[in-house]
Amino acid sequence: MRLLRFALVLLVSMVALADDRAATPPAQPNDDAYTAKIKEFTTAPYFTSELVDHLPASKLPAPDNVLGHIVGAPNYLTYPHQIYAYLRELEKASPRVQMYTIGKTEENHDIVMIAISDEENITHLNLYKENMGRLADPRSTSPQQAEQLIAQTVPFYWITGSIHSPETGSPEMLMELAYRLAADESPMYQRIRKQWVTLITPVIEVDGRYRMVDVYNWHRANLGKPTPPLVYWGHYVAHDNNRDAMGLSLKLTQTAMKTFLEWHPLIMHDLHESVPYLYDNTLGTSPFNAWLDPIVTNEWEKIAWVNVDEMTKRGMPGVFTHGTFTTWDPSYLYFIANSHNSIGRLYETFGNGGADTRERELSPDETARTWWRPNPPLAKALWSMRDNTNYQQSAILFSLDYLASAREEYLRNFWLKSQRAIAKAKNEGPAAWVLPGDDPRPQLQADLVNLLQRQGAEVHRVSQAFTVRLEPAKKPQPPETEEPGEAAMAAAKTPAPETHQFPAGSFIVRMDQPYSRIADMLLDQQYYSADDRRPYDDSGWSQGPLRNIASFRITDQAVLAVPMEKLPGEVKAPGGAQGDGQVLAINNNAAPELATLRFRLADVAIEVADARFSSGGISYNAGTYLVPASARAQLDGAARELGLTARALPAMPTVAHHRLAAPRVALLHTWQAAQDEGWYRIAFDNLHIPYTYISDQVVRDTADLRARFDVIVFPPVRGNASAAEIANGIPLWNPPLPWKKTDLTPNLGTPDSTDDMRGGMAYAGVQHLADFVNGGGLLITAMDSANVPIEFGISQGVGLTPSRQLHARGVVLNTRFLPTQSPIAYGYDNKLSVYFNDGPLYRVTYQVGRFGGGGGAQPGEDRPTGRGSPDSPDVPQGRPYAEPAANPRPKPWEAPYISTDVSENELRGLIPPQYRPRVVLRFADARDLLYSGQLSAGQELAGRPAVIDVPVGKGHIVMFAMNPVWRGETQGSYALLFNAMLNYDHLDLGKPLPPAGAPPATRPVATEQEKNPQPVKPE
Ligand SMILES: [Zn+2]
Repeated sequence: MRLLRFALVLLVSMVALADDRAATPPAQPNDDAYTAKIKEFTTAPYFTSELVDHLPASKLPAPDNVLGHIVGAPNYLTYPHQIYAYLRELEKASPRVQMYTIGKTEENHDIVMIAISDEENITHLNLYKENMGRLADPRSTSPQQAEQLIAQTVPFYWITGSIHSPETGSPEMLMELAYRLAADESPMYQRIRKQWVTLITPVIEVDGRYRMVDVYNWHRANLGKPTPPLVYWGHYVAHDNNRDAMGLSLKLTQTAMKTFLEWHPLIMHDLHESVPYLYDNTLGTSPFNAWLDPIVTNEWEKIAWVNVDEMTKRGMPGVFTHGTFTTWDPSYLYFIANSHNSIGRLYETFGNGGADTRERELSPDETARTWWRPNPPLAKALWSMRDNTNYQQSAILFSLDYLASAREEYLRNFWLKSQRAIAKAKNEGPAAWVLPGDDPRPQLQADLVNLLQRQGAEVHRVSQAFTVRLEPAKKPQPPETEEPGEAAMAAAKTPAPETHQFPAGSFIVRMDQPYSRIADMLLDQQYYSADDRRPYDDSGWSQGPLRNIASFRITDQAVLAVPMEKLPGEVKAPGGAQGDGQVLAINNNAAPELATLRFRLADVAIEVADARFSSGGISYNAGTYLVPASARAQLDGAARELGLTARALPAMPTVAHHRLAAPRVALLHTWQAAQDEGWYRIAFDNLHIPYTYISDQVVRDTADLRARFDVIVFPPVRGNASAAEIANGIPLWNPPLPWKKTDLTPNLGTPDSTDDMRGGMAYAGVQHLADFVNGGGLLITAMDSANVPIEFGISQGVGLTPSRQLHARGVVLNTRFLPTQSPIAYGYDNKLSVYFNDGPLYRVTYQVGRFGGGGGAQPGEDRPTGRGSPDSPDVPQGRPYAEPAANPRPKPWEAPYISTDVSENELRGLIPPQYRPRVVLRFADARDLLYSGQLSAGQELAGRPAVIDVPVGKGHIVMFAMNPVWRGETQGSYALLFNAMLNYDHLDLGKPLPPAGAPPATRPVATEQEKNPQPVKPE
């Protein structure tokens, strides 16, 4: 079988060789030693192409001169500084190479980029950058000027390697590619060099690469033993480093964004290695992102098919495009290009997770012949780093060679896409987005305005109020009756659009600018049909609602004519202390910066109002900070910096208040997965919230956690891990797995360190958490981390309901606050949009073992056969009618009704009032639940608890079913977490508690307030 294939491949290769691509002119002999090694390390003749099966000799240093081995040699991975050293040698030796440092990582390593082109082009890089900038903005470049620029400009093709640290091959391959592009004199390379500048960032996740090489070196020194898992990639997150192109939280994404806006590369190409053998993942499958210009999706197709075609013709198995990846979510690094009028590309090749040569077995799923994969990979193959190098490099070279013949076409498309992005305001719309100047959360609004600007979008501001028409929220529905009666006709008529006045200070994001698409993509609402394929990642991300600020989509063209000024740079909410008085009040508007302020003024006795109050004609929310005037100077500086306004009150208001804690916070991670907690860590770091970073082993080994901490925040572990999985951690049956700094692994041991990653918090840790909470501490959980207290019985009264049909993959959902007066709700209105990702379905009870959470009864469901309609009372004959007992059905967020008739026998199962779970936030009803994304069987989630406060002993557990801190996109829900933390010792406020020392209640009926689902918060 294999022999036959070999023969066929030879034949095919010889046909393909008829072109000039591999023609090494006689003047340039091969580097024979290197070429021999390429052959040796390529495991089958069909795992290569004529482009990469040899290396031309030249005066330039080949990779083996510096590394000591060829690229793709087994058993070696190269550290970033070694890669940089090689590229510097190349730069020194070749006038075709220029190297740049484009940024720094969180751990202070350089991120670099090299430019390779012909000698002449290299001297014009600044001109080309400038030209690309002019083509990027057709407002100032006429079609005639554009044609001139197109003729004179050599565009940039930017390749980024190893964003995903266990995908190790691209940094190696890119060294060899750099050499070939600089050294090969054959016609194909001359074409590429003349028509394009190739930009190469060999490693974009530099911190992660250092750790990965360490782990691999550990593996080489401990062959046959299980390897420490790469629990940390970058400083904060693992594979989610490729989900940051919306929030721009990470240095690598910030660097890529900044570099993109400086160079305007026509193509950005990100390299991955998780699919055999070459999947041009750019295309993916339906649904495609709905905000892209169709021109770019056509460009993806054209370029992808060149790869598939050329490599298939050469008999290379397993080359395909489309696949099952839904190209919807714009959070991937390569989407920076797609959302900014360039072209983003992504390859998945096949890596072995290191540099070992291994016999790889693929699943039937991976080798199935499908319509998009008529040439599938092999079920079994010996696979090497060199094979991966051959595939990646061949595909890039075929792409570059194709593009060398189509430079002007793609440059023209770039200008055209930019022009169409500007025309968006008048064509498809909207005309603009408006963020109103009277938003009660100016800090969160400023943060979004600054994000849009960092995305390259222009934001304008008005100094005067203006009025525009608003579109009706929903399309008019046709009448349901067949007869077009007068009323039905009236209902079907388009409702007149309302007008709305926006105040001075409002921000306008115009859609007649080159980067209208990214702004629209971030701000718009996402509808993802439940009938479509399950999304590969988040399906909704609307940044207005997730940041709890108002955003208006305006289609009225009049908005474009409103007098406005372009913002010159970053904005900040106004802040500082105003007026004179005994006390300074900072209204609580659920801004995350309030938490920053609390810790900044940790020594100041800050009181918080327990309820709303008014003073000097201004209304203040519950949770308002009351700071003594003695701290004024300190407060003024901090408030200015944080964009918080403190107003002087003549005296302490009469409203009840309590002392705001500055708690000792621990952020808890496990050694099995430290990905989702990274988003919490970066949020805390950016906001300067002090915390101690602890592992589950610290919980296991610390008997008295309460002595060290007031609050333990336990972010999601994997989203759906069971309590046992979390507690057990990595199994103990193998030798120890160190994560620490040693001579062999100098880059491990951060951000946390251990001699042995195995074993989780274990039963001892579960007990310690129980003791911590019982002793007055607050444990905050999100998604699966709540399984520990629920399943081990630390908490009572909260249960999990298995979901049957629910699908909610990364969606924006609407929630409602219950009228609890809980401090967790401080600063919020009665509604909030939150991020939810197939999280747990909770139910609550006041009686152990008897859960509620059902829906309401259908009319007549419970009545016996008798007189009247399904809703009629059943009237026994022969006596006066007496009203039967109510049979209240609990709402999904409510505990089952408990009768007033409770016998002593039943008392032992009743949870005393002071220990009953309190639902603070619930998901909206089914018809209002979805804001953005794909939601299927939403009725299973509708009305269920979203945030529950469970009193346990002297402390509390606050459980989030949604995830309040996610990818730098959910700032609107941060304050739920911070409110809980800062009020950890006052979470029972607003709860009717029995007097201290009273015996357990014998009439544990829900209070009127608890039964009343009407929100008391203002709309
Ligand atoms: Zn990847």
